[in-house]
Amino acid sequence: MARITIIGAGITGMSIAYVLSRNHDITIVAKNLPGDKPTIDWASPWAGASFIAGGCSSADEVRMQRDTFAELWRLSVSRPESSVKQVFAEDFHDDKTKDDIWWKDFMPEVSSTPSPLLCHKTLILNPDVFLPWFKTELERTGVRFERMELKSLSDARNRGHDVLINATGFGSLNLQDVQDQNMQMIRGQTALVKSSLKQLLMHDNGETYTYAIPRLDGTVILGGTRDTDSKSPDIDSNQVNDIFKRINEHLPDQFSANPSDHEIVRHNVGIRPSRLGGVRVEKEERDGQNIVHAYGVPGGGYIFGFGVARAARDLVEEILFSSPKPRL
Ligand SMILES: Cc1cc2nc3c(=O)[nH]c(=O)nc-3n(C[C@H](O)[C@H](O)[C@H](O)COP(=O)(O)OP(=O)(O)OC[C@H]3O[C@@H](n4cnc5c(N)ncnc54)[C@H](O)[C@@H]3O)c2cc1C
Repeated sequence: MARITIIGAGITGMSIAYVLSRNHDITIVAKNLPGDKPTIDWASPWAGASFIAGGCSSADEVRMQRDTFAELWRLSVSRPESSVKQVFAEDFHDDKTKDDIWWKDFMPEVSSTPSPLLCHKTLILNPDVFLPWFKTELERTGVRFERMELKSLSDARNRGHDVLINATGFGSLNLQDVQDQNMQMIRGQTALVKSSLKQLLMHDNGETYTYAIPRLDGTVILGGTRDTDSKSPDIDSNQVNDIFKRINEHLPDQFSANPSDHEIVRHNVGIRPSRLGGVRVEKEERDGQNIVHAYGVPGGGYIFGFGVARAARDLVEEILFSSPKPRL
């Protein structure tokens, strides 16, 4: 059993702990932990969250999304208290043909519909429930959580681990010995609204995307925005109005264009830790530490989490079980 420290308690870090904890001794170290009041410092509490596939730049990323879907589907069946639930989705992608949509042959109950619409079953979850639930599940299997902020990965080198995993999301832009300039911070704003909507809507035209994610608890998340110019945690009232206007165009029977006609539970503003060139899952030896990087999922950490975790586990095993170098 090897000792592994994971920096980061978002969906990526906890999914890695989940995959590795069956065989290893795991500690998660993070500045922000599940159950904390959500802040702009991390992304995972702010997600919708739905599983709408896409945004992949490689076959590896497609495999990561498939692996994640399979694991989440299993949770939706066996662990309903996790908040993972199955829903029907109307999934429009104006900028793609059906040949571009790899998930048309993968998602359950795909119905044949005129392009650009694909109807299928998919998954949703509520991060307010899922993240604390996941933390408790991990603690039950022996995973430890420690609150700590690191200035660099080398700050962790005296912890006595065999492998250090960097799952810090956009922390990887600031860690002194990472400073990944490919990190791209994409601000997103949504509204959590009282509604009995039961079916998910996603309409992506390549520039804007509009979605309604039912949480099946009497509320729905309305969005969305992708904003690379602003990192402001403040609610942008123009974006609120624009979201309701777009939602009304798509679902006029359920939502008016005027936000004040609705019971808004809260507005959400978060930053997605995306990365130009795709997710980084790589190993490195530095300052006497074996490091596995696992950050920078393009768009959706909940559509990548368990797949990134399996890819990271493969690298951990390469480090732990590679034959020692022959002595000359
Ligand atoms: C409005 C919005 C809606 C979204 N909707 C969806 C959706 O429907 N589906 C979906 O899949 N995704 C969605 N996302 C994206 C998703 O939330 C992110 O991709 C995902 O949460 C990234 O997870 P992560 O674990 O990689 O990073 P994070 O959640 O940011 O976690 C990073 C962790 O690292 C820790 N950390 C960072 N730096 C340091 C340091 N120096 N020292 C110690 N700890 C550190 C943090 O404290 C935190 O614990 C949405 C995002 C937003 C903002």
